[in-house]
Formats: sequence, structure tokens, C-alpha cells
Amino acid sequence: MRAFSIPMRTRFRGLTRRDGALVRGPAGWGEFSPFAEYGPAEAARWLAAAREAAFEGWPAPLRDRIPVNVTVPAVGPEQAHRIVREGGCRTAKVKVAERGQSDADDLARVEAVRDAIGPEGRVRIDVNGGWDVDCAVRMVRLLDRFGLEYVEQPCATVEELARVRRRVEVPVAADESIRCAEDPYKVRDAEAADVAVLKVQPLGGVRPALRIAEEIGLPVVVSSAVETSVGLAAGLALAAVLPDLPYACGLATLQLLEGDVVSDPLLVEDGCIAVRRPEVKEEELARFEVDPGAWRRRAEEAGSA
Ligand SMILES: [Mg+2]
Repeated sequence: MRAFSIPMRTRFRGLTRRDGALVRGPAGWGEFSPFAEYGPAEAARWLAAAREAAFEGWPAPLRDRIPVNVTVPAVGPEQAHRIVREGGCRTAKVKVAERGQSDADDLARVEAVRDAIGPEGRVRIDVNGGWDVDCAVRMVRLLDRFGLEYVEQPCATVEELARVRRRVEVPVAADESIRCAEDPYKVRDAEAADVAVLKVQPLGGVRPALRIAEEIGLPVVVSSAVETSVGLAAGLALAAVLPDLPYACGLATLQLLEGDVVSDPLLVEDGCIAVRRPEVKEEELARFEVDPGAWRRRAEEAGSA
């Protein structure tokens, strides 16, 4: 087991560094990077995903390129416009409901993004649970004047998502509401979402995530847990085996990190990322490598959870 700690270019989940471990097996490299606050039971699923990557590999892909979205943080309209133009994607995900900002900030940002991406592009907003039901209904209706593909996690709870979904035309996607393997079924049973955002590591691997995708009967957007190219490759593998992939995926997250552990990172080309599995490169890993002791202990605890 090797461990890494990579500085983040953009703060995410309050993190300034992304820490994790890499395991190597006969099938290749796997990433084990549960967030620090997760206990052994939760980390066990992340470990299962790393083991699948290292020891089993993934099912054969059905497609070789995955369309991805550019992510626009809660920045001003000029910067938002530039990020979309430079991102080269046909779908943009815009962060809204940032603490300390106004409705007018959200409107100006989404308007700038629509302008930058053009009438054929798709614009989705991500609220990260920041609105209550009434606020969500009001803001979604307001922002939909710029044409929204969907609204991601408008409120914090599954019950609230269900209520918003009954009151707006724009489809609702569940992200934070799906954090472990049982959650997608709760979202489905409450009829709380039109789209499910699935991540490979928290769901225990590509095969368990594929099984969930098949069982919940909702279109799936595969998203990353802000991983190195080793972890992203698993997300691409899941996106590549889904029977239908109607939406761009949230796998263009490498630019959040200062570096990577491979020499040929999984970057966006022409709005897509190629489905492939880059090899860990010693020189790249060496720039960010840290002592793996703590990660070995975490994996042992997760393994016996
Ligand atoms: Mg999200």
C-alpha cells in the first residue's frame, strides 16, 4: 500500500488536501480514499472498491468516451463565463446557494453560464442541500428562465427533495442523499428524484454500483469523490458499462488537485474523457507520497468492520 497527500487547487468539503492510499494487485491499481470523518463501516465499502480495482478489474466497457460536465464554482459572472469557455464541455454544472451570496449572484452566474455554453449546451445547478423547500421552488422557477437540465440536491433531506420534485418542472437529482448502498432505494421509494448521482467508492465498487443503477430504475450520473486518475478510472468504468448514459458525468475533477499520481491523467478532451486505466508513475507519486502507516491501519479496521 502506498499513500498520497495532494494539495487542492480549490477548497472542497472544507479540504485543502486530498489524502488517500493506492493498492496494487494483479488487475492493476485501486484507490482507497475515504474522507477522514468516515468510520470503519463506511470505509469498508471504499476498501471493497479498491480491492475490486486491484484484484478483479471491471466489466468490459460498452463505450470508449464519457461526456463530462465542467464545474463552475460560486464565482462572479465574468469568471463563470471564462471557466465554461475554457472547459470545452457541452454541459456545465453551476454551484449556487453559496453562504453569504444573494439570489442575484446565482442569477447572474447562471445567466453568464448559459451565455457561454450557448443555446444547445446543458446547464445544471448544484445546490448541495442549501435551500429549504419554498426557497428551492422559488429559485428553481427563477433560474429555469436560463433553461435548466436538472437541479442537484436542492435541499438536505430525501423528504424535502420529494416535496420540491412535486412542485417544479425541472428534474431533481439526488447526490448527498446517496452516500451509501441503501440510500438509492430510499430515494427511489420516496419518489424523491428523477436522476441519481452515483459514486463508485462509497457504493463499494463498479459492480455493486452497476447493480444499484439497474435496480433503482433512474438515470444515473456517475460522479467522482475527487480522486486521482486511479479512482477516476473506476468511475469511467462504471459510466462505460451503464446500459444508458443520458447525462454528462461529474468526472472532470482532476483540475481540483495540484497534481496526479500518473503521467497521463484522465483529462477532458472535446467534452469527454476517454475510458482507460492509466498506470501509477513512480516519479509522479513521489511528489505527493506520504507514510502509508495510518492508511494501513485504516484499511485493517475497515477490513474487519
Ligand atoms: Mg453534487
